[in-house]
Amino acid sequence: MAARSSLGEFCLRLLPSDRMPDFGCQFSKRNTSPITGEGVRPVGEIAFQNTMTGQKEKFVPLHPGEVRIYACGPTVYDYAHIGNFRTFVFQDILRRFLRSRGFRVIQVMNFTDVDDRIIDKASAAGLGLREYTDKYIEAFLADRRALGLEMPEYMVRATDHIGDMVQLIQKLTEKGFTYVSDGSVYFRISSFPNYGRLSKLDVTGIQPGARVDVDRYDKTDPRDFALWKAPKPGEFFWESAIGPGRPGWHIECSTMAMKYLGETIDIHSGGVDLVFPHHENEIAQSEGATGKQFVRYWLHSEFLLVNFEKMSKSLGNFYTMRDLLGRGTKPSSLRFLLASVPYRRQLNFTEDGLRQAASSVERLRNFVARVRNGKFPAGSSAMGDRAAKATAEFEQGLEDDLNTAQALAAIFDLVRDANTAMDRGEFRQDDAAPVLRTMDTFDAIFNVLRDDDAEKLRSLGIASAEAAPSDAEIEALVAERQEARKNRDFAKADRIRQELAGRGIIIEDTRNGGVNWKRK
Ligand code: AMP
Ligand code: ZN
Repeated sequence: MAARSSLGEFCLRLLPSDRMPDFGCQFSKRNTSPITGEGVRPVGEIAFQNTMTGQKEKFVPLHPGEVRIYACGPTVYDYAHIGNFRTFVFQDILRRFLRSRGFRVIQVMNFTDVDDRIIDKASAAGLGLREYTDKYIEAFLADRRALGLEMPEYMVRATDHIGDMVQLIQKLTEKGFTYVSDGSVYFRISSFPNYGRLSKLDVTGIQPGARVDVDRYDKTDPRDFALWKAPKPGEFFWESAIGPGRPGWHIECSTMAMKYLGETIDIHSGGVDLVFPHHENEIAQSEGATGKQFVRYWLHSEFLLVNFEKMSKSLGNFYTMRDLLGRGTKPSSLRFLLASVPYRRQLNFTEDGLRQAASSVERLRNFVARVRNGKFPAGSSAMGDRAAKATAEFEQGLEDDLNTAQALAAIFDLVRDANTAMDRGEFRQDDAAPVLRTMDTFDAIFNVLRDDDAEKLRSLGIASAEAAPSDAEIEALVAERQEARKNRDFAKADRIRQELAGRGIIIEDTRNGGVNWKRK
C-alpha cells in the first residue's frame, strides 16, 4: 500500500496541469467495476466535490507537490461556537490529509476583525476595534490548540491589510466594475457576467443600481455590494486614497488570498453559508481584477445542527467549546465527533453523540495501549496483511472527498479483528508493529490518540471533574490497578497508571508492594 500510494503521489507531483493523461501513469488509469460497470477510482487518486461544478473531480494542484488553500476564518466579535469549529476541524482534516500525501500545504486563514457586528459590539463596549478583537483572537487560538488543529501557515488580520484592499478596489475601479454612492464604493454585479455561477443564483432579474450596505444579507437577493463603506457619524474609519471609510467584508478575503497565495489558488473552503454572498462576491472581485480563474476547487462544509436547526449565534442555540469542556467534555471527544461525519453531510449535535465519541476515543486508546504493552508469542500471523488492508481502506475513504466515516469504519474493523485475535491468543509479537503503523496513519489525520485531554483543559484554565478526580476515585483506580498487577495484567495496570497521570495523579510503587499517590 505504501509503495502504491507513493507512486500515486509521484504521478500527481510530476504532472503540472489538471489534465492528467490516461497513459504513462499507472494510477491515473480508470478501472471499471465488474459489478456496476461504473468507473472505480484507482488507489492513490484524490477526488473532491467541487461546489462550482457540482461534480466530484480528480484533485491535481496547480503547482506540482504544493497545495495552496484559503480558509475563511472566524469573525472575532465573540467566542467561536462548535458549529464554527466543525468547519475548522474539516479544514484541519483537509490539510492533514494533503500533508500525509507528501504535499507542501500553504494555507491562509483570515481573522475578520472589522465588520458590521464588530463595529457595533466594540462601540457598545467603548473599546477600539483592535482592543475588542484581540481577546477573541487569543481565545480562538487557544480553542484551536485544545482541539488539536494544526496552525495554518498564515493567519492574517483584515485590519493589517487595509492598504492592500484599497489597491484592489482601485484596480476594480480602473476596470470599470465599481461606482460611488454617498462616499461608499460598490461593486456593480451586472458588469461581471459570471456572477451567480458558484451559488447557481438566477441573476436575470437583478435591479441595476440596487445595492446593499450590510455585510451579511439575504441569500436570495443578489445586489451590488459595498467594497468600501463611508463612515457613519461617530464611526471608526481609515483615511485612504478612495476617501475615508472601512472595507466591506468580502474584499478582505480576495485581497489576502491573492496576496499570500497568488491570483489562482487551489482550494478555497468555508461553511455552506458562505457560498452566497461571500464567496460569490470574492469571485467577482478577484476575477474582475485579474481576469484569471480565482479558485480551482471550492469545498464547503455542511452545518452542525442542534435539534435539526443550524447552530448559530443569531438563533441562540449554540455552545462554545468552553461551555462544553467546562461541563466535563474532553477536547478529544469533541474533535472526534466533529471529524467523524463527512464534511458535506449535516451533523446534528447531541449529548448522546458526544458520549459515543468519547467512548470511541477510549476504545481506540485502549486498543493502542493493549497492542503496545501486550506480551504476545513470537512470530507473526496474517494480522500484518489485515493491518495493511485497513490502511488501504482508510486512505481510500479519505481520497473519496474526505469520507471520514468510511475511513473510520476501516479502523474500527481492524480494532475488532485484532482484539478478537488477542482474546484468542492468535496475535503475535511481530503483528504489533504493522497494526501500530496503521493506527499512526489514522492519528496523523484524526489526532485523538494522545491522552492529553487533561493537559489541554488545564491550558484553557478549565479544571473539569474529569481532570481532577476525587480521593475516593483515585483510591478505587489504584485498587483496580493493584488487582490487575496481581493477575499479571500489566497492560491494564499500565493503562490505569496512564489515565491517572493524564488527570494529574502520579503513583509510585513501594518496595513492599504498596502504592503511594500524589497530585502533580
Ligand atoms: P463566521 O465567524 O460567522 O464568519 O464563521 C466562521 C466559519 O464557521 C465559516 O466558515 C462559517 O461558514 C462556519 N459556520 C458557521 N456556522 C456553522 C455551523 N452551524 N456549522 C458549520 N459551520 C458553520
Ligand atoms: Zn472569507
